[in-house]
Amino acid sequence: MIKIDDFNFKGKKAIIRVDFNVPLNKETGEVSDDTRIRGALPTIKKVIADGGAAILMSHMGKPKNNPEPKYSLKQIIPAIEKYLGKIQFAEDCNKADEAAKNLKAGEILLLENLRFYAEEEGKPRGIEKTDPAFEDAKKELKAAQKEFAKHLASYADVYVNDAFGTAHRKHASTAVIADFFAEDSKMFGFLINKEVEAMDKVLNDAEKPFTAIMGGAKVSDKINIIKNLLNRVDNLIIGGGMTYTFIKAQGGKIGASLCEEDKLDLAREILAEAKAKGVNVYLPLDGLNADKFDKDANTNVSKIDETPDGWMGLDIADQTIAEYTKVIASSKTVIWNGPMGVFEFDKFAKGTSAVAQAVAKATQENGAFTLIGGGDSVAAINKNKLADKVSYVSTGGGAMLEYMEGKILPGIAAIRGDK
Ligand code: AMP
Repeated sequence: MIKIDDFNFKGKKAIIRVDFNVPLNKETGEVSDDTRIRGALPTIKKVIADGGAAILMSHMGKPKNNPEPKYSLKQIIPAIEKYLGKIQFAEDCNKADEAAKNLKAGEILLLENLRFYAEEEGKPRGIEKTDPAFEDAKKELKAAQKEFAKHLASYADVYVNDAFGTAHRKHASTAVIADFFAEDSKMFGFLINKEVEAMDKVLNDAEKPFTAIMGGAKVSDKINIIKNLLNRVDNLIIGGGMTYTFIKAQGGKIGASLCEEDKLDLAREILAEAKAKGVNVYLPLDGLNADKFDKDANTNVSKIDETPDGWMGLDIADQTIAEYTKVIASSKTVIWNGPMGVFEFDKFAKGTSAVAQAVAKATQENGAFTLIGGGDSVAAINKNKLADKVSYVSTGGGAMLEYMEGKILPGIAAIRGDK
C-alpha cells in the first residue's frame, strides 16, 4: 500500500472521496458546522501543492430520487472556497468528462452529490425489500454500480479515499472505484490515515491501564464494540441510558428509566464475560432522576438501584462522577463512546461534562492516549471545548464503531487489502 506522504501528485489528477456531508442551516442554507470540510483540507492542499489537480466527490444527505436541490453540494461551494479559493463545479457527477479533462494543475473540481445516482449506494430505490423483484433490481444495480465507479475513475489518474465516515459502506466511490486503479495509484488521505492509526493504536498497542467508557442510549447499539473491547481493556465504565438494563439485570429498581427488556440476559452475559476476563466493570453508584423526559423536569438523586417508581435516571450523580474521574485519571489509554446522560438538557449534562474533563486531564497530566468517537461523545467534547485537549477525536460515527468492533471496512479493505 502506498502512503500519501510519499506520493508526488505533480501532473496528476486525483479523484478524492471526501466527506462533505455537512449540516446546513435550514433557513439560510449555509454550512452550520464545517468540521468535515476542514478535515479534508490537508489532503486537498497536498495534491495542489505538489502540482496536481483535485476532483472532489462526496455524498450529502439521503436523497431518495434524482437531483433534489436541498441535497445539492452547490450550496457548500462558498464554505469550501473560504479555505481553497475559487473552485469549479460539475452539475452532474456522471457527466463531468469535459470538466475533468480540462482541469489544470492547481485547479479543483467539485462533483455534484454522488447519491443523485442510485448506483452510488447500489441500493434499489422505490422498490420494497419484500418485493419479489427487489433481488433482481439489486443485481442489475450492482452491475450498473461497477460502470458508474469505472466512469468516475476515468476522470483521474489517482484515487484517494479520505472519507472515513463512509468507509464502512461498499459504495461506488468508497470501495468499488478502487478496483479501477493500480496498487500504486490508490491510497488513503491524511484523515483516514490518522483515524486508522489512532484506532489501531488503541486496538493493538494500548498502554495499560486501558479504560473503555461506554455510554449512550442502548446496550444493543454497543454490544459488539463492548464484546471486542472486553478482550483488551482493564476497565469498562458504563453510563447513559444503557446503565439501567444492566442494573435491572442484577435485580435493581430502575423506576421509569430506559431499559431494553429483551437485553437483560445479554447484560448478564457481558458482566459474566467481563468477570471471566478479569475486566473491572464500573456501573454508576447513583443517578440523577427526572419526573419526566424534559429539560425542566423536577429532579432527585438516588442510589442507582433504588430509582423511585415513576422517576427516570437521566444522568450519573456525584458519587459516580467521583469514582469515574478516579478511574480515568489513572488510565494510560482511554476510549470513550456515548454520553453519560441526556447531555442535550443542561440539567443532565454534568456527568458527561465531568467525564469529558477527566479524559482531557488524563491526556494532559497523565500522558494518556485518549480516543473519542461516536457522534454524541464528539458533540459533548466540543460542547466542553476540549477537542484539542484529547489525543484524537474520530469523525466517523458508524465507521468508527464498526472498526472498533473488529469488522473489516470495505473502504479500508479496498485500499489496504484487509481480509
Ligand atoms: P448513542 O447515540 O447511543 O450514543 O446515544 C446518545 C443518546 O443517548 C443521547 O441523545 C442521549 O440523550 C441519550 N441518553 C443518554 N443517557 C440517557 C438516559 N439515561 N436516558 C435516556 N437517554 C439517554
